[in-house]
Amino acid sequence: MANKTYKAIVLRAVKYGEQDKMLTLFTLEGGKMSAVAKGAQSARSKFLGSSQSYCFGEYVLSESLKMPYLSSAEVINGFKGIGRDIRLLCAAAYICEIITVAFEEASEDRSAFMLLYHSLKLLEGCPGEKSLVLSTAFALKMLGINGSYPALDRCVNCGKVGEDYFFSPKEGGIVCADCVSAEGLAILTASQGLYLFDLLFCGMDKILSLNAPSGQEQKYLFKQINNYLVYTLGKNIKSFEMLYQL
Ligand SMILES: [Zn+2]
Repeated sequence: MANKTYKAIVLRAVKYGEQDKMLTLFTLEGGKMSAVAKGAQSARSKFLGSSQSYCFGEYVLSESLKMPYLSSAEVINGFKGIGRDIRLLCAAAYICEIITVAFEEASEDRSAFMLLYHSLKLLEGCPGEKSLVLSTAFALKMLGINGSYPALDRCVNCGKVGEDYFFSPKEGGIVCADCVSAEGLAILTASQGLYLFDLLFCGMDKILSLNAPSGQEQKYLFKQINNYLVYTLGKNIKSFEMLYQL
């Protein structure tokens, strides 16, 4: 029997048949993969902890059958602190869904794995009201990882700096009033652009100490970056709406 061990984060866990769960794992060594956790719906299952969403652990997969299944699993960090606040839970669902949507099966990406791990760790310890800051930063950094992040500090067309801009996913970032060609685009002030620029490029450990805008403004910026991500990926992120509405 071919068994392989992976360090992995559970992106998604859904009921599968009467007793099992189907896990979508993001593994450090092999990217995204699916595995059945047999009997995991039972409260006495040995996979009870390791088959929860966003759990980080070491998973031994048996790949002898058509669909790999868990042979054993050990929780390294279940990020239990996330469960204390619905806003943190929704943010965790959002960032896990971005990974699920952004990667095909078996496409390995260590940078994305580390970003996900550090984001979950940060979410676990942060106050609920910071969930949007973190989700916005995560979306931006994912755009950075796949090389399609928006221009945020100057007009993407003429390079003009320091004024109010329009935000255009289609054109790749902010455009100034002289260059704007489409109607109905969202407005981004120069300082909002620079704040997002900082979220994109500063280390994860600095995210929460940045001078974040207030609630409504943070929501607005989160929505713009999500729109940009959805446009770039060409796929919707379903858990955006719940996080946004909280
Ligand atoms: Zn311009």
